[in-house]
Amino acid sequence: MGTDRQDDFFTDVAVDAPAQNPLVQTKSPNTSKLITRHLERRSPWPRIMRWAVGILIVLVVVQEVAAERYDRQLSAAIQDVSGNPTLEVHCRRIWDEVLDFRAKPGFVEWGSTTTELQFTVCRDAAAFADRPLDEDTRLGMMILTHELAHLVGHRNESETECVAMWAAPQTAVALGADARSGEEAAGWYQLNYNPLLNGEYRAPGCLSRGAPDSPLLR
Ligand SMILES: [Zn+2]
Repeated sequence: MGTDRQDDFFTDVAVDAPAQNPLVQTKSPNTSKLITRHLERRSPWPRIMRWAVGILIVLVVVQEVAAERYDRQLSAAIQDVSGNPTLEVHCRRIWDEVLDFRAKPGFVEWGSTTTELQFTVCRDAAAFADRPLDEDTRLGMMILTHELAHLVGHRNESETECVAMWAAPQTAVALGADARSGEEAAGWYQLNYNPLLNGEYRAPGCLSRGAPDSPLLR
């Protein structure tokens, strides 16, 4: 008899009671919905704005990680080509573009040891060793070399273009490719890209003339 009483006790009280409790089954989800609705009403921004800001923050962080890697890789490359360990590349971040919008893919302020390149130019130049026949990576490598020519003192744009075409094999090697792919890129650039630029940049016949006088070309 004692055993039967114990079974009754456990069955009635411990197992079934909580699941049948109307407080647990009906009020709890409603309460949490109410709280959620209340919080949404109190939020200053609509949900889509919070998503947009969240996505922007993720993009900024992802870009920052990549840009820091490109800064290091491309700075090392131009230091290698020039023999000057003070030269640096700064790949422009989203915030650089917001604060100071310049359409140029790359530029150097006179007297500075740093060149600023658009983020996509950095990305393409950094990939030159992987895709030396790709138009984007060729352009990235040539723009990097052009800005390097400015950093070592060339101011005239046509002369800077010609120096860049002659120095391209050295940049290619510094980026981990071979000199031949740099020559190919310079030949492609002379034929297909330089003639499309403004008159002051054009350097017709550059590669068929002798190498220009430049501290880059040793
Ligand atoms: Zn220039």
